[in-house]
Amino acid sequence: MTQAPVRPDQPGTHADEADILDLAREKVLERGEPLTQAETLSVLQLGDDRLTDLLQLAHDVRMKWCGPEVEVEGIISLKTGGCPEDCHFCSQSGLFTSPVRSAWIDIPSLVEAAKQTAKTGATEFCIVAAVRGPDKRLMSQVAAGIEAIRNEVDIQIACSLGMLTQEQVDELAAMGVHRYNHNLETARSHFPNVVTTHTWEEREGTLRMVREAGMEVCCGGILGMGESLEQRAEFAADLAALNPDEVPLNFLNPRPGTPFGDLDVLPASDALRAVAAFRLALPRTILRFAGGREITLGDLGAKQGILGGINAVIVGNYLTTLGRPAEADLDLLVDLQMPIKALNDSI
Ligand code: SF4
Repeated sequence: MTQAPVRPDQPGTHADEADILDLAREKVLERGEPLTQAETLSVLQLGDDRLTDLLQLAHDVRMKWCGPEVEVEGIISLKTGGCPEDCHFCSQSGLFTSPVRSAWIDIPSLVEAAKQTAKTGATEFCIVAAVRGPDKRLMSQVAAGIEAIRNEVDIQIACSLGMLTQEQVDELAAMGVHRYNHNLETARSHFPNVVTTHTWEEREGTLRMVREAGMEVCCGGILGMGESLEQRAEFAADLAALNPDEVPLNFLNPRPGTPFGDLDVLPASDALRAVAAFRLALPRTILRFAGGREITLGDLGAKQGILGGINAVIVGNYLTTLGRPAEADLDLLVDLQMPIKALNDSI
């Protein structure tokens, strides 16, 4: 059977694909303007044969609008597991059979972790708790932890403690928390398929209070949770509307015992295409590789991502899964001649 010849102006042909990259070069690289949702979708629909060009463009955009520095962060879980929420990707939910049990770490261990993080050259240390939102006990542990770290370690402190009340936002700002992480996780239209115990709008409300209180907003999510390409583009636009200081991009690492435990891992080319598309939708934002990249992208992934739009990494282990050794990422940055962002650049 012979196929009808493909006209160069048909959707999805190479002529179209070249057009979106030309448009992105002119709009994002030259003028620093973000792609729209529809344009981001066109990028996500590019074929694998255009991936190298796309990654190069995303890298050029990152170098022009963010510079060569890479921001390094360490994270520590103050309270692990036993969360009452049902985020379907999360092994820390107490509602699933996943093997993460509830546990707290003490203040000396927190300070030690901050010291180790600072030794890598990292500028941010993020204190994380698996909770819907903090209670009085957690807030007082965080206050004590921040004070102890401040006394011994020169590092900026971020927190990720779930949904906040206005009073809690004000307390964290008064403690000197530099940045607050609260992920929207996925597109608004896909969120009810991922979480049923709270809403996307509740999450967004916390982020708005954080911004108004003067803390930096860190907000990202997880790719590969069954969202369509349209929803991936919608998510990038949702994030761009918030104008976050940082976007951590995770890739689903399906955890046994969670509702998403049987989902397929995102193919490496889809993950890299998404990283580049998010860079073009968020040209000036710190775009951080977070969890799941080892399983999605393998050993080469760090290099391809850092040369494809990423400008921040988490060193060491994640909350419930192992990452690459800190030295591997730091050596890579030396190889690529990308300096670690210095503490005094950002304060
Ligand atoms: S993602 Fe956060 S809120 Fe959701 S179950 Fe996990 S720890 Fe709880």
